[in-house]
Order: sequence, then structure tokens, then C-alpha cells
Amino acid sequence: MAGGGFVADSFDKPWPGIGVGGSLALDFVNTLDWRLRESPVEQLRTYADLFRWARSAGALDLAQARTLRAWGEAHPRAAGKALGEALEVREAIAAVFQAAARGGAIPARPLARLESAWRAAWAERTLRPKGRAAAWDWRDASPAPERPAWTAALDATRLLTSVERERVRECGDAQCGWLFLDTSRNRSRRWCTMEGCGNRNKARSFYRRSVAGRRRAKG
Ligand SMILES: [Zn+2]
Repeated sequence: MAGGGFVADSFDKPWPGIGVGGSLALDFVNTLDWRLRESPVEQLRTYADLFRWARSAGALDLAQARTLRAWGEAHPRAAGKALGEALEVREAIAAVFQAAARGGAIPARPLARLESAWRAAWAERTLRPKGRAAAWDWRDASPAPERPAWTAALDATRLLTSVERERVRECGDAQCGWLFLDTSRNRSRRWCTMEGCGNRNKARSFYRRSVAGRRRAKG
């Protein structure tokens, strides 16, 4: 929760869980905790959270993230709008990849929302000479507040249209809902993290087995 009284600026600290998704778009999805619960836990509560996440994910450098945070403090309404739109794009990406992970058809409305974010992002892209070749870059050196959502939309469409999408998985926990790319050799990754959902679920099934075993022994 944002609030006064912080001694140190926590803005520079890495975002918890960054990298677990294996792609920027999936890490963006994972900024909502306990997605499958009735009341999920939102980690992007303020625009400052959004810019801190984007900095950790590599969508902004530290100077850009700080610039946008300062802009947000000066323009709270516009920043709130940028946050709202970013969450919309995130939920579209989540719906699309949750369906992909579950082997279902990609839902049309979230896909259309993702596409419109992709179009907005591409309007801000430009080709620049790079050595003897050229590379896509952002037109503006100073990033727009939409940059985090745009970067996620670009990565999401790349992932969705590549063979890598077949490796998108949903955490095996009943409530977690985090998504990740399974890059294990035998494609057997079940949990977002072993330390979190993996151990909790293993302890739970161990407990169940031992209770069942004791009941059997008594009966
Ligand atoms: Zn999980």
C-alpha cells in the first residue's frame, strides 16, 4: 500500500516474483496474486507500483521509472487512468494465456483488447539504424505512461503467435493462477515456484496421505 512514513525509497527494490513467468507478458499477468480466488490480491495498487514493476521487468530503466513516478505525483488523474488501462491490458493478456494454458479457444474480446494495445504500441515504434542494420526502438526517448502496458502487449502478441505458446502453463495450485513458460526439458514444471506453491501443495498432499494411512491402519 502506498503511504507516507517510508524511511528508505523502496522504489528501487526488485519486484517480488519477477522472472517467474519466463516472459515479460506472463510476469505482468502475475502481478495479480491468487487470481483464482473470489478475492484476488492486487499488487499494482498505484501507478508507482506499475512503474516500479516496469523498471524491474526491464520495460523502463531506473531514470525513466523515476521520471514517470514524478509525473504521476504531479498528474494523479492521468496517472490513475494509465494504471486503469494497464490493468485492462493485463487482464486481456491473462484471459488469452489462461485459455491457451488450459487448451481452450482464445476468447475474442480479450484478444481484441490485446490487439488494440499492440496497435497503440506500434504507433510509437520506429526503425533506427543500428550498426549496419536497423532495429525497432521507441520513438520517444522519454517514455509515455502507457509504456509498461505497451511493452507487455508487444511481448504477449509475440509469445501468442510463436511456438513457445505451447509451453505456457498455469500453476497447479487451486487458487494461485500464475502463468509461466515451462522450459524444463521434459515439460514437467507444475508450480510457479517450488518455494511457494510447490512446497505448500506437497505438504498438503503428504498430510492427506498420512491421514489416510492412519485411518486405514485404524480401520
Ligand atoms: Zn503458484
